[in-house]
Amino acid sequence: MQDYRMLIGGEWREAVDGASFTSINPYSGEEWARFPRAAAADVELAVQAAQAAFTAGDWPQWTASQRGAALVRLAGLVAEEAGRLAEIEVRDNGKLMAEMSNQCRYMANWYAYYGGLADKVEGLVPPIDKPGVVNMVHYEPLGVCACITPWNSPLLLLAWKLAPALAAGNTVVVKPSEYTSASTLELVRLVETAGIPPGVVNVVTGFGEEAGMPLVTHPLVRKVAFTGGEQAGRAINQAAAGDFKKVTLELGGKSPNIVFEDADLDAAVPGAVSGIFAASGQTCIAGSRLLLQDGIYDAFLDRLVEMARSAKLGDPMDPETNISPVATAAQHEKILAYIEIARAEGATCLLGGRAARPEGSGGYFVEPTIFTDVRNDMRIAQEEVFGPVLSVLRFSDEDEAVAIGNDVLYGLAAGVWTNDLTRALRMSRRLQAGTVWVNTYRSTSYTTPFGGYKRSGLGRENGSDAIKEYLQPKSVWLAEPKAVENPFIRR
Ligand code: NAD
Repeated sequence: MQDYRMLIGGEWREAVDGASFTSINPYSGEEWARFPRAAAADVELAVQAAQAAFTAGDWPQWTASQRGAALVRLAGLVAEEAGRLAEIEVRDNGKLMAEMSNQCRYMANWYAYYGGLADKVEGLVPPIDKPGVVNMVHYEPLGVCACITPWNSPLLLLAWKLAPALAAGNTVVVKPSEYTSASTLELVRLVETAGIPPGVVNVVTGFGEEAGMPLVTHPLVRKVAFTGGEQAGRAINQAAAGDFKKVTLELGGKSPNIVFEDADLDAAVPGAVSGIFAASGQTCIAGSRLLLQDGIYDAFLDRLVEMARSAKLGDPMDPETNISPVATAAQHEKILAYIEIARAEGATCLLGGRAARPEGSGGYFVEPTIFTDVRNDMRIAQEEVFGPVLSVLRFSDEDEAVAIGNDVLYGLAAGVWTNDLTRALRMSRRLQAGTVWVNTYRSTSYTTPFGGYKRSGLGRENGSDAIKEYLQPKSVWLAEPKAVENPFIRR
């Protein structure tokens, strides 16, 4: 059992009341690490440390170029340590080592990109319609930002928040998921090594209500950046509204992956598999509704079932494994419950539909599962399962594909498979989603905005505009001193 402490004001600390909790390896089913269980008193210390680092000491004196250079150093350290960080993530969330090591290496780019951007945020001198006056617009940091992250890609989704927040000159308190706290605590060691002053990045470990909510409602926190489920997102949005904090919310999805008859099936079949079975379906962008056009319906399903059936369930550290366990016992139960709901609603289970337990594992596996005869008003087509469960629907033409695709409360992503360029353009305009992929799926990058329409969230992460989510404009007026004739009239 490994014992971790949380980082507050540059010190590694236990919880004020000494409470702790443990993390379970989803593959072995065994506890492997212990963390301080933060509550309001710990959050108070962390926010005060972040506020102190924002207002005094070295950090507020650093130029944007110095902040950028530190982030570029951090990017180098993250790239060097990617393998070790990935191993820790796998121990916590059970995802494939192949996926997590890729992800951790790629994540370094966020720190390099926003490091490069730090000293390229330019203010403005707008032309002013008044004589003898100059107006300047500066972009200033907000203050203490709270970053609250989920368990499925803890470090990547933290990078989406931490990198722009620091580039902009803010200080941060991070609350990682209670299921995956270890990798964040390892990452902030690298933040220290990169030379970022103590108190600029703090971590409280603990549960949503106990540690997350006191952070969201703390009056000194000026921004909350959250990735997670709809329910927590709504609670956070409502609580943050109390004192008008800025929020960025990246929530769930029920994304349509739409295959037209003219698509290249050699690309579209693996695209559908990757959309729902990669990461055991535990991604917000999962293509969990597969829409197949009439003419290819049967042929596509045959190929899809064959590929999904051959997926190997097993140890996430084994490079031969395709499908690893889902992250938690609760998630396992939830997925199995949805499978029963789908059956009760009258959907046909074409593949899978059961829990699995590969030899040697103690963990929470679910077979890759495919449902046909799904109507879009069924719960299995409307609600986020967050597991390897695919709903297949049928359509006859573009209008019907758009109607089914958009008939859902979410709008995070959509996939379109076609070789017709004008159709691709039409579909990308008509689908209500923050990301539309044509002839590919699951791509994201530090250079392009990511976020949701409708209930999938608020605001955008990634890309150059995202740094503005961590800045506020200040308008400064410089005038020649002049006596005014009538001070009671607005100038
Ligand atoms: P979750 O909402 O249960 O938890 C996310 C984080 O919020 C955790 O750190 C948790 O402790 C905290 N939290 C929970 N309740 C809180 C509250 N009332 N106040 C403050 N903090 C609270 O989500 P999860 O189960 O960890 O992750 C899965 C969800 O995340 C899925 O719905 C998925 O779609 C979503 N997700 C979205 C994206 C995206 O970018 N849009 C990416 C990954 C995951």
